[in-house]
Amino acid sequence: MSTQDTKIALVTGASRGLGRDMAINLAKKGLDLVLTYKSDHQSANKVVSEIENIGQKAVALALDVSQQPKYATFFEQVLIPELKARFNTSKFDFLINNAGTGLSKPFMETTVTEFHELFRVHLEAGYFFTQQALRHMNDHGGIVHITSGLTRIIYPGSSAYAVMKSALETLTKYQAKELGDRKIRVNAVAPGAIETDFNGGYVRDNAQVNARIASLTALGRVGLPTDVGSVVAFLCTDQGQWINAQRIEVSGGQAI
Ligand code: NDP
Repeated sequence: MSTQDTKIALVTGASRGLGRDMAINLAKKGLDLVLTYKSDHQSANKVVSEIENIGQKAVALALDVSQQPKYATFFEQVLIPELKARFNTSKFDFLINNAGTGLSKPFMETTVTEFHELFRVHLEAGYFFTQQALRHMNDHGGIVHITSGLTRIIYPGSSAYAVMKSALETLTKYQAKELGDRKIRVNAVAPGAIETDFNGGYVRDNAQVNARIASLTALGRVGLPTDVGSVVAFLCTDQGQWINAQRIEVSGGQAI
């Protein structure tokens, strides 16, 4: 159990988009937050202020999830000292693997370099960042991998991205099985198309794409970050304590 009553969640890529909304919803549920960002320090600090205004503690730390050899150093030399200094503990409770980038390229045009970049950001991070994180997590916590509706919906031009997310969904089940003895729950949340900066704002800024996806969605619109954050936050509460090893699609009924 945590050395403190307040649980702490680590959300990667929480400077904007879905990660920001997850962090805010987690704070509304009474959790303290460690946010990471890749380069947008200013936006990450704004999220910290928003969380502090809700009444929870938060800190934003730089982390490039594509740099696997640096994970151990991040935990040992950055995260743990920050936890000790600001939260008076050396452990946290929930990990949300959210940081990520996309790629819209037909299968025949996707390069090895692009494939490897998606592999590092999504799958290698889901595997080895989680492995390092678990050394510093309390039992009875949880892990949420953010995957994608594209593991179910076949959308041409998404093969490299979608196979990484599919692998993460398989990993979710293996981790849930192997971490059950620590009472750590592992789930995947698979958002449908959401209006964020993701993929150059592809869903938000391209009116044609936006309208087409809306027309394919039972609820008649594309998703917003606020559609997803509350679901992730729920999984990190006792109300979600019996949900384990699941892929939960949050897409408004896209392409059913
Ligand atoms: P955004 O582009 O809005 O935000 C991406 C976030 O990830 C930012 O905080 C960014 O930090 C961070 N980030 C990007 N690359 C790295 C990296 N190499 N290392 C660390 N952090 C990084 O994306 P979304 O919020 O839309 O996407 C979040 C997750 O949701 C992703 O995993 C994505 O695959 C998934 N998803 C998104 C969907 C959508 O339609 N938007 C649909 C389904 C899944 P910084 O601000 O510093 O650049």
